[in-house]
Amino acid sequence: MRFLDKFFKKKKEEVLWTKCPNCKSLLYVPDLEKNMKVCPNCDYHFTLSAKERIAYTLDEENTEFLFEEILPADPLGFKDTKSYKDRIKKAQEQTGLTEALVVTEGHIKGKKVILAVMDFNFIGGSMGSVVGERFFRACQRALETKTPLISFAASGGARMQEGILSLMQMAKTTIGVGLLKKARIPFISVLTNPTMGGVSASFAFLGDVIVAEPKALIGFAGPRVIEQTIKQKLPEGFQTAEFLLEKGQIDAVIHRKNLKDYLAGLLDKLFYASR
Ligand SMILES: [Zn+2]
Repeated sequence: MRFLDKFFKKKKEEVLWTKCPNCKSLLYVPDLEKNMKVCPNCDYHFTLSAKERIAYTLDEENTEFLFEEILPADPLGFKDTKSYKDRIKKAQEQTGLTEALVVTEGHIKGKKVILAVMDFNFIGGSMGSVVGERFFRACQRALETKTPLISFAASGGARMQEGILSLMQMAKTTIGVGLLKKARIPFISVLTNPTMGGVSASFAFLGDVIVAEPKALIGFAGPRVIEQTIKQKLPEGFQTAEFLLEKGQIDAVIHRKNLKDYLAGLLDKLFYASR
């Protein structure tokens, strides 16, 4: 397959073939996209960009992105191998997004919802001040307009480059969800591959219903860190969606193809049927 690698390097903007990370089969990208980016051979769910996620979830209509005016800053003047400012700029160029969380309003099978969607391609979907603030405002918007909120998590955790400010977002997003609970507005959390660290330890695990995509990696610390700490071998399938379902930590594992129908059904049961 190496001869293909060279070819792809040249045509980076239009990749036609990709390899499934799970079963290693070579997949034709347009077919993969028609299949909602699920491997036709092994059912591996590829990580989606925020835009793809929105397209697969909402009814086709003009959707508007909310809170785009809240933009990342560099409060600590942080620099590691690269400056934080440069990292943000590069992520913005690569993803076409302004931050790792996109908030939008729309309908799922005719039912109005607010979506908060993370994009793992934007600095590992890490939660910094802007992700926290946008999520909180999504909660406020849901409250004001009496509309259910659905979040799609895809994150490595807190954004290290913002230090303690990123950890504060765990408290802020938790308060946001608390406001919805008090007002009995549903919050549904969808965990996608991967949902780790400060995101799983805050809003992602606070849904009235917590759903995950098949085989998604979900946890706090990574398996290697845990193994080194407890000096024990971890059970098979540890930190997968299926494992968490078996242990009662989440409510359902839903295939991407059925997710929209499932969410529409939940919205009815939790909210719209009684209106
Ligand atoms: Zn596969």
